[in-house]
Amino acid sequence: MSVRVRFAPSPTGYLHVGGARTALFNWLYARKHGGKMVLRIEDTDAARNTEAARSAILDGLRWLGIDWDEGPDVGGDVGPYFQSQRQEIYDRHLQQLEAAGRIYTEDTGAVRFRFSREPITVHDLVCGDVTFAATEEPDMTIRRPDGSYIFHFVNVVDDLEMGITHVIRGEDHLSNTWKHIDLFNALGQSAPTYAHIPLLLNPGGSKMSKRDEGAAIANYQEEGYLPEAVFNYLCLLGWTPRAEQEKLDRETLVALFDASEIHSSNARFDLSKCQWLNAQYLRALSDEALFAVARPFLVHAELQIEDEAMATAAVASVKEKVSLLSEFPEWVHYFFKDDSPYESDVVSKLRSKPENASLLETAAETLEAVDEWTEASIQSAIAAAAEKEEVKVGALMPLLRGALSGQMRGPGVTTIAFLLGREKTHQRILQAVSLI
Ligand code: GLU
Repeated sequence: MSVRVRFAPSPTGYLHVGGARTALFNWLYARKHGGKMVLRIEDTDAARNTEAARSAILDGLRWLGIDWDEGPDVGGDVGPYFQSQRQEIYDRHLQQLEAAGRIYTEDTGAVRFRFSREPITVHDLVCGDVTFAATEEPDMTIRRPDGSYIFHFVNVVDDLEMGITHVIRGEDHLSNTWKHIDLFNALGQSAPTYAHIPLLLNPGGSKMSKRDEGAAIANYQEEGYLPEAVFNYLCLLGWTPRAEQEKLDRETLVALFDASEIHSSNARFDLSKCQWLNAQYLRALSDEALFAVARPFLVHAELQIEDEAMATAAVASVKEKVSLLSEFPEWVHYFFKDDSPYESDVVSKLRSKPENASLLETAAETLEAVDEWTEASIQSAIAAAAEKEEVKVGALMPLLRGALSGQMRGPGVTTIAFLLGREKTHQRILQAVSLI
């Protein structure tokens, strides 16, 4: 039997991090077992069923690199993949239940499903065997008087019609799974294998909601996370891959994935860990690849990129200092703009001693005299200036850093000077002198 799994989101206008993780575990399972990943949009709630709400989910999945073999945009043999277009299929299954004597219509027009009223056991890959005692609940409405169907019914019919072999979804659905199994059996079928994955909790221990920081996948994109880092992080929420380290690429995660290793206890969401992981991914990129992903953030901050090689080197020079792509502009803007204001600490530092002006003037002179503009020659020129002024190089460096970048921290001073070039280096030192 070949594996068929599905991600079945209801369009809500955004892809929630918990939903993304559910999609991811399904995807890992499909890829691991050479199966098929189906995307089904559970859009029976007409009010919420907008194009924008649907594309938010598809865009989020695509950004994460979670693809689907069947579903919206790609098609497949058991479509349509939107519940809003499957009315006939549901009607047909309703008739089947009727033939089996399992439904009745109320005076109001609502159609109810007659529960079997037997104990039902869910054999769950994550939660183990969970037995539900024979229910005493009233029979379940499966079709409303207006002809629309309720979630439990369409969800089961679709899993059946789409040949889903494994249902991997959030633990919030476990408590209703007996109803689903009852429906499958009434339709003469056995239920798929279930795996209910633990819920995501905030660091404080409450259930994650829409408004929590880190809840919407689109925000990760905006803030400059790399999709592969978020993908990696989501895998760690409720699963501990058997590996030496936590930074693991897609192929390795697929190879290691084992649904029976998913934790049965709830997972703590920790955005700072996701950030830490993102920093690891950024550092592992080549300078060129890093520049390619950082570039849109520089452009967004209105930094003019004229010299690509210089811009690439500028971004690379602070690779170790950032954990999000959106942090790059604040670290490198002075490479692109001449009018960036000095940080106030820099102004205080420059003005802390009157002799700072002559120190900087001497440095401007020795730097002017450099033959070939290389980091090594810049370093020697700075050392020569310090010697002339009888101060330590370590005393001159912070002044130069402030003069050249307007900042207290950043890449090495010689790197800044080298990338700015001879002319700008000279201008900026003199500008600092006049400020003093
Ligand atoms: N549309 C349901 C949800 O978003 C799907 C539940 C399921 O995966 O069975 O929660």
